[in-house]
Amino acid sequence: MANHLYDALFGRHEGSPADFLILPDGARVSHSDFSARAARFAGALVQVGLEPGDRVALQLEKSPDMLAVIAGAIRSGVVFLPLNPAYTPAEISYFVNDAGAKLLLCDGRAEATLAPVASQRGARLMVLNADGSGSFADLAATAEPGPPVDRGATDLAALLYTSGTTGRSKGAMMSHANLLSNAEVLVDYWRFTERDVLLHALPVFHTHGLFVATNVALLAGCPMIFLPKFDAGEVVRLLPRATAMMGVPTFYTRLLDDPRLTQSLVKNMRLFISGSAPLLAETHRQWQARTGHRILERYGMTETNMNTSNPYDGDRRAGTVGFPLPGVELKVCSPSGAELPRGEIGTIEVRGPNVFQGYWNMPEKTAEELRPDGYFITGDLGIVDEDGYVTIVGRGKDLIISGGFNVYPKEVELALDDLTGVLESAVIGAPHPDFGEGVVAVVVPEAGAELSIATVQASLGDRLARFKQPKLIAIRAALPRNTMGKVQKNVLRDEFKDAFTGGGK
Ligand code: AMP
Repeated sequence: MANHLYDALFGRHEGSPADFLILPDGARVSHSDFSARAARFAGALVQVGLEPGDRVALQLEKSPDMLAVIAGAIRSGVVFLPLNPAYTPAEISYFVNDAGAKLLLCDGRAEATLAPVASQRGARLMVLNADGSGSFADLAATAEPGPPVDRGATDLAALLYTSGTTGRSKGAMMSHANLLSNAEVLVDYWRFTERDVLLHALPVFHTHGLFVATNVALLAGCPMIFLPKFDAGEVVRLLPRATAMMGVPTFYTRLLDDPRLTQSLVKNMRLFISGSAPLLAETHRQWQARTGHRILERYGMTETNMNTSNPYDGDRRAGTVGFPLPGVELKVCSPSGAELPRGEIGTIEVRGPNVFQGYWNMPEKTAEELRPDGYFITGDLGIVDEDGYVTIVGRGKDLIISGGFNVYPKEVELALDDLTGVLESAVIGAPHPDFGEGVVAVVVPEAGAELSIATVQASLGDRLARFKQPKLIAIRAALPRNTMGKVQKNVLRDEFKDAFTGGGK
C-alpha cells in the first residue's frame, strides 16, 4: 500500500523549488517549503497523540498553514474536518462531538471561547493563527517530520459537514479515492497544466475552494494566487497575473459591477469557472459581452464532489450545468428511483468514484440517500435535454405545490429575471389556507430601475400559467445569501411563513 492521495497532491512536489502559493503581497511559498511544513504538522499531529483514522477539527482562517495542516493530516492518515470560521461555539461543540475529534485547532482570538467547548467534548484545543504563530505552530517547529502513512482507496481523508439548512449538518465521509479520482478528471476536463496560474479567492472550508480548486492546482502542478477572501478590487488587481479562476456566481456579478473589468484586464486568462449556486444566464451573457469569455458552469455538491460540467471546447450553454463528467453516471428519476424519459423533470441521482462513503454515524440517513446500487439521491431537481445538457431546476425541497399543481421556483424566477428592470429573484412557497402553498416572489430591481409590484404582476400575466404566478411579490434591495453565494431560501421561507395565514407581510 501507499498513500496515493498524498503522493499525487504533495509527495510528488517534495523538494521542488516551483511556486505553490503566491500571496497578495507577492510573497511566495514553494512546494518544497510547503511540503516541509506539512511534514512537520504531520509530526505535531503524531506528537499530540493522533493516530491514523483519528479526527482533527480545524476552525481556521484561510492561510498557507491551514492548507499545510490539511496536507499533514492526509500524510499521517488523520481525518480532517474543515469548519467555517463563522460557526458559533455551540455549532463547533456539535461538530467536535459528532466527529469525536481528538484535537481542535482554532485561531488565537477564539481560544478563550472555545476552551470550555473543547474540554467538555474531551478534545485538546491548540492555536494556529493565519500568520503562522500559535501553540500548534510552536509544536510543529520542533516536531520530527511525521512519516507518510499507508492509506487505501476507501480510507477516509475528510469529513465535510453539509451546510445543513434543514436539520442538523451531516458529516459527509470523503475517501482518498473520492478526492483523487475527481481531481484527476477535472484537471483533464478543464485542461489544467503547470503553465496555469489559478486565482483562488474561495473559502477553503468548503468543497469548492478546497477540493475543486486546490486539488486541481496541486495535481496539475500550477501555482495559486491565494487571497484570504474574495475582494473585487484585489481580484481586479491580480487577474492580469492569472490564467484561470474558479468562483461562485456572486464573484462574477460583483466583478461586473466594477468598471475596470475589461477585455484587456483578462487578456491572460483562459478559463472562468462557476459553481456552487446557479449562475444567471444574464450574468453569463454580460460576462461574455464585457470580457469575451464564456463562463464554464459546473455542478457538484459536498457529498459527490463534481458531477457535471459544461464542455471545455464545445458550447458552454448558459443556464445549464453541462454533461456528466467522465466516470459519473447521472439519471433523472421519479421518487421511487425509476429513470424518467429525457426531457422530464425529476430528482438527479449520480453514481461514480466521486460519490462519498456515507454520512458519519448516521446509517439511517445514509440509507435514505445512498441506494444499495451506489446511486446517490442528490435532492436536486433536474432535466436533461436532447443534446444531453443537464439543467438544475431547483432543490426537491424547494418545489412548491400550489392547488395540487407543481410549481418549479426556477421557472418563475427565470420569467421574473427576464423582465426589464429586474436584476434577480427568489421564489418560495408559503403555507396557504386554500392552495396548500402559495407562490411568493422576492424581486431585486436593477440599480436605478423603478419597479412596481403591479407592473411585475401584469408582465407575468402572459408568461406564466395562472397557478405559477406569485400570489405575493416583495421588492427588496438584495437576497439573503450564504458565503458560497447560495440564496438562503430557508430565511425567506421563515420570513414569509405567515404571509397567507394571518400576521402576514
Ligand atoms: P454544497 O454541498 O454546499 O456544495 O451545495 C451543493 C448544492 O449546490 C447542490 O446540491 C445544488 O443544489 C447547488 N449547486 C451547486 N452547483 C450548482 C450549479 N452550477 N447550479 C445550480 N445549483 C448548484
